[in-house]
Amino acid sequence: MVRAERRQLLMCVVGFVCVIAGPSTLQSGETDTWVDNHLDALVELYTHFHTHPELSFQEEQTAKRLAEELGAVGCKVTSDVGGHGVVGILKNGDGPTLMLRCDLDALPVIEETELPYASKVRTKNDDGVEVGVMHACGHDVHITNQVAVARYVSAHRDKWQGTIMFIGQPAEEKGGGAKAMLADGLFERFPRPHFAVALHVDSFTPAGMVGYRGGYALANVDSCDITVKGRGGHGAYPQGCIDPIVQAAQLVVDLQAIVSREISPLEPAVVTVGSIHGGTKHNIIPDTCHLQLTIRSYSPEARQKLKESIIRKANSIAQSYKAPEPEIEYTEGTPSLFNDERLAERLGPVLLDALGEEHVVEADRSMGGEDFSRYGRAGVPIFMYKLGSVEQARLSSFAETGQSVPTLHSSKYYPDIRPTLRTGLLTMTAIVRDLLPPQ
Ligand SMILES: [Zn+2]
Ligand SMILES: [Zn+2]
Repeated sequence: MVRAERRQLLMCVVGFVCVIAGPSTLQSGETDTWVDNHLDALVELYTHFHTHPELSFQEEQTAKRLAEELGAVGCKVTSDVGGHGVVGILKNGDGPTLMLRCDLDALPVIEETELPYASKVRTKNDDGVEVGVMHACGHDVHITNQVAVARYVSAHRDKWQGTIMFIGQPAEEKGGGAKAMLADGLFERFPRPHFAVALHVDSFTPAGMVGYRGGYALANVDSCDITVKGRGGHGAYPQGCIDPIVQAAQLVVDLQAIVSREISPLEPAVVTVGSIHGGTKHNIIPDTCHLQLTIRSYSPEARQKLKESIIRKANSIAQSYKAPEPEIEYTEGTPSLFNDERLAERLGPVLLDALGEEHVVEADRSMGGEDFSRYGRAGVPIFMYKLGSVEQARLSSFAETGQSVPTLHSSKYYPDIRPTLRTGLLTMTAIVRDLLPPQ
């Protein structure tokens, strides 16, 4: 078949993609025409989601609209799965089950894009403080893409066979949504998928392009709170005190030696002290000093080693000052995202077929995190790819002036929406047709 001829792709080493040759294969025909005919309606839907963002764990209206849209194309919809999670099942004969995931939540950011449809939403965060709300991570693109795919597959039942499980996942930004949906029986109450696929917009890749890689793609994201303890007193008489500030300062420096001296240089790892707070005044030695760390890694071995080393260093510094034992709260958060290598090997050529080789690039690994990884940890082969989202001319002008383009989570990030939606839909529907072929 044509695909086999076009499969001029070599998967080399672990998940590295080398495009060696091949004709331009920009897909044309029925799917393209359908996408172009429906793009105006999809942009309108995107604008709705963009102007109605909701924070993590508060995605009630977003979930409701997604449920309505999935129901309208014939999905059997279940709401409130793990909070505001939505599951829409579309059956089309016998065949495997494919889970497609989008995430629903926005961020506490005041939008500064100056677009006519910029979000003006304000709300209260968990601490009761008024904040702006913005889809600064592009989850509005993901939701629109989910609806677009549902509309397409519902209208083209001859092009696929099996079951599609559309899920709208809450609270990705807080790393809690996938965990909550799994805990609420996602893979027991609904069909256990044979594959799970998701996309995420990318602010460094031009709209019209996608990037992917097999194997590790995103990091383990752990956090640690350390309360260094001492004995407070007058700043003029340190000999009678145990100073937690000095201990904390030494700890910050010692922590830097973990990645540089204890972890292999070939193993990605990060230990960042993002917050340090202690004391109230120039001349008072406080009783405690509080540090907050983010810790990133890929492998389980590096993850465990970082944890042990951080705890050991915090304890040993306290001992050296004859200080009370520090209070250490270590939280293992989102696990690293490992794209199933066989699935990546299968879907890479599908992306090439859908867009043409010049529109598919190798994605870099990143030390960011994504809780889509949890579905993989639950035993389902997963594949997440990057959807380019920024106009090429805009990327070029930033590059020419030596500026960096606004990244995801920036108040100035915005996607070039038409080509972005178009590319998401072309690739995702191609994936559906490949993984759920009609018999
Ligand atoms: Zn994000
Ligand atoms: Zn995101």
